[in-house]
Amino acid sequence: MIKVKTLEEIEQMKPAALMVGDTLAEVSKFIKPGVKTLELDTIAEEFIRSKGAVPTFKGYGGFPASLCISINEAVVHGFPSSREIKEGDIISIDCGCTFNGWVGDSAYTFAVKGAKEEDKKLLKVTKESLYLGIKECQIGRRLGDLGYAIQSYCESFGYGVVRELCGHGLGHVMHEEPNVLNYGRKGTGAKFREGMTIAIEPMITLGNKEIVFHNDGWTCTTVDCSTAAHFEHDVAITKEGPVILSSYKAIEEAIKTNDNLELI
Ligand code: MG
Ligand code: MG
Repeated sequence: MIKVKTLEEIEQMKPAALMVGDTLAEVSKFIKPGVKTLELDTIAEEFIRSKGAVPTFKGYGGFPASLCISINEAVVHGFPSSREIKEGDIISIDCGCTFNGWVGDSAYTFAVKGAKEEDKKLLKVTKESLYLGIKECQIGRRLGDLGYAIQSYCESFGYGVVRELCGHGLGHVMHEEPNVLNYGRKGTGAKFREGMTIAIEPMITLGNKEIVFHNDGWTCTTVDCSTAAHFEHDVAITKEGPVILSSYKAIEEAIKTNDNLELI
């Protein structure tokens, strides 16, 4: 069952969603060649707890960390580890914060200085596709319209749209109904209703769309080892149209001040 929220509840969800952006902004200050992804995870956890919030991912289904950090061909769910970031890496970071009983869940993909032009274009297009998907979040339109918008745009660049993973409803818990697919046909699927709150998260590959899950039960990478990108926003459907609850503003301000990162 899709749980709709009141306008008051949607307001209550905003601080959790914004805290994710603030956490990713804090983390992004420390991204540079040589830093271990586990160090970034520690920074995130300490930041989240210092704000009186809880890192939603930690312990979720047994996930061991506060961030999913997925590098280059890793699509999502990468474990923070002793792996060091290198020049030119493409780093997707997904984060969840639980605050005042609500969950925020947002992701951003960073380009480390020296990233290939083709990888940077993938990031740009994936982020653009997220906003095209958000535009479809109008009362009366359908989930298939959102999926179609993302899929058709990304495929027009020859990119792969991952099928095995998707966005989701969001509220007091991280995963509510419905599933929010990044592909679909116009005019199909559940209708958007006032008060729906969803996480939209295109996962797009430079090459083939096929992915493989690793033995750790979490990390998934592209089969052809092509680069992947992942952007995620939390969105509420209102009479006035979609309201983006999360934000990239703090993240992109932080990127501008970090010479090791390129703003896409
Ligand atoms: Mg997420
Ligand atoms: Mg999500």
